[in-house]
Amino acid sequence: MLAPGSTIGILGGGQLGRMMAMAAVQLGYRVAGYAPAGENVAVEVSAYFWEAGWADRNALAEFAAACDVVTWEFENVPLATIAAIPPALLACPARALEVAQDRLSEKQFAENLGGRAAPFARVESDEDFARALERIGAPGILKTAREGYDGKGQWRIASAHEASGVRFPGQPCVYEGMVAFEAEFSVILVRSRDGEVRFWNSTANHHEGGMLAQSTLPAGALIEAQVPEARALAAKIAEALGYVGVLTVEFFATREGPVFNEMAPRVHNSGHWTIEGAATSQFENHIRAIAGLPLGSTKTRFETIEMRNIVGPEALTAHQILAEQGEPHLHLYGKREAREGRKMGHVTRVGRPLS
Ligand code: AMP
Repeated sequence: MLAPGSTIGILGGGQLGRMMAMAAVQLGYRVAGYAPAGENVAVEVSAYFWEAGWADRNALAEFAAACDVVTWEFENVPLATIAAIPPALLACPARALEVAQDRLSEKQFAENLGGRAAPFARVESDEDFARALERIGAPGILKTAREGYDGKGQWRIASAHEASGVRFPGQPCVYEGMVAFEAEFSVILVRSRDGEVRFWNSTANHHEGGMLAQSTLPAGALIEAQVPEARALAAKIAEALGYVGVLTVEFFATREGPVFNEMAPRVHNSGHWTIEGAATSQFENHIRAIAGLPLGSTKTRFETIEMRNIVGPEALTAHQILAEQGEPHLHLYGKREAREGRKMGHVTRVGRPLS
């Protein structure tokens, strides 16, 4: 068990790190952050923060020396950065990042454990793309294999005719068949150091332009019927990775059952509702897990819950939400630049308490 006053290192400095740090501080820990220069909104809640490049050996050594345990809030932390941290400090094996950083490897990993993914093919040239189109057909989506997020690095291809106008973007990609889904959901679990697994309820996730816009509970009968199978796969993934902390696996709910989309070895936007909506939030349970503390209950506390992201210039008027009926819970991440498409905050609205 990590003693009170110990220091938890967080790689990455965005809103996920900020909310994780707030939970860590509540539990009596200090936070050391590390991220390249940028608008690192975790700085405000971190006792120490290194703004340095992922390859800066000296800064990494200083950061590691200050930490008792190290976790991440960003799945694209380079593996070479992780390799510079003494393995004994890592809360979770680097393999989780290695698998999740590449869309092909995560799909293969899920399939090897019995999961079902959309048909997919590796695309590294125009010829590969032509072959993939022939085998999988259209509609489909061409995605960069690495570093895409919130719908970025994705090209939707409605028809074979349209595909003829799309060039291979010059970096490894995956082409996947379009899934005719009825709904989208994620399984968020926490796994303790000794292998205990707990799940939060799965919300229905609504995306706009490839980015999560809203998560709601109850998720509806279709999703609820598919959650057990999805949870079983998510738990197998966590176990196979020797995972510790919060892991998220995103699914499409289809007529044929849950289809694996992608995984995130971290807390997730679709779990922000747990701050007010669950007995223990994803952020707190992540900290509890990596600190070796007992896990908290993941029980849902309200009959209905809605979490909505505040994106781009919406943030400029977000304080008006506080005047609404029903006591909305407003979270702003402290970002100064309200750029179009940028996640600036979120608001959670809850219904009647569950007895
Ligand atoms: P991703 O970054 O892969 O999670 O994609 C972002 C969003 O785009 C997903 O949440 C879906 O709404 C949509 N999407 C991605 N891949 C597919 C697919 N193969 N079929 C249908 N919709 C997809």
